[in-house]
Amino acid sequence: MTLDRSTIWPYDERGEPREFYYSRYGSPTVSEAEAALGALDGGEALLFPSGSGAVTALVLTLLQPGDTIALAEGCYFGTGVLFQTLAKWGLRHLEFDQTGPPPDGAQLVWLEAPSNPYATMPDLDAAAAHPAPVVVDSTVATPVYLRPLEHGADYALHSATKYLGGHDDTLLGAVVGRDLSELRTVRTRTGIVPAPDPAWQLLRGLKTLELRVRRQTATATELAARLREHPKVSNVRYAGIGGLLAFDVADGEAARRVETSTRLIVNATSLGGVTSVMESRHRWEGDRVPPGLLRLSVGLEDADELWADLAQALEQH
Ligand code: PLP
Repeated sequence: MTLDRSTIWPYDERGEPREFYYSRYGSPTVSEAEAALGALDGGEALLFPSGSGAVTALVLTLLQPGDTIALAEGCYFGTGVLFQTLAKWGLRHLEFDQTGPPPDGAQLVWLEAPSNPYATMPDLDAAAAHPAPVVVDSTVATPVYLRPLEHGADYALHSATKYLGGHDDTLLGAVVGRDLSELRTVRTRTGIVPAPDPAWQLLRGLKTLELRVRRQTATATELAARLREHPKVSNVRYAGIGGLLAFDVADGEAARRVETSTRLIVNATSLGGVTSVMESRHRWEGDRVPPGLLRLSVGLEDADELWADLAQALEQH
């Protein structure tokens, strides 16, 4: 793990560029982090300054104006919003139920495993049977629980800001695939290039990834079971892997009361860090989610303490 912040490296004695020469083309710390993530996910990895940056670079590489993305409904809100932003460049998208086959006529299939916040798992076999390339956003599953390339997907995508970084202090994204040469060229030319410091933080995060997500999964499984028994909670959504779950309380007012009443669990957005965070998704997604839906990202705190915090917040009037 070396942190090299240089943007330039000298040519060799014959005046030829070595492996690294200008950091927009590649840099040692980023390259080291890419190798580590590629090994975990079973492919070649490229890093981007954020998960959204990775999404942007990938669709610019794979698609052209007039093309359609079949997008998993109920997936991360920001992905649909990003595709909407690219609509003026001729990109279309339509949503479909990812637990079944993707619709005909799409040039790219976009899945999320499990979806954020609905926690559905995609039918990877049905997607692999579709003629279009398949992207699996496996931010929440992480390579600990899913290696999408082994299930016929063409690309795995991560918001490394979440579990891979793991400490809510690193904004980073990644794409893993079998041959990313074209994506690498687009990254270099568009300049959607990560800095070395977040790459170093990713390397550090990966050292504890498995420990963290297995513990978060155990705690989330326990909390999901307890929430299912709670009289004020309906509809607990948990995929059984990872630390992300969502549950419904009566309405928007109840959700606001619960999210602002926790003491241990922080009322904030994002997911995948060592600190538990919870928020109503209605504030961001509007009518796309029920007003009483709360999304909880389970951290590394003690499960009983987390439950005590949730239980007292659910009792607030
Ligand atoms: N994909 C998923 C599943 C996410 O949850 C997020 C962010 O919340 C993103 C992609 C976007 O990642 P970033 O915020 O790193 O741009």
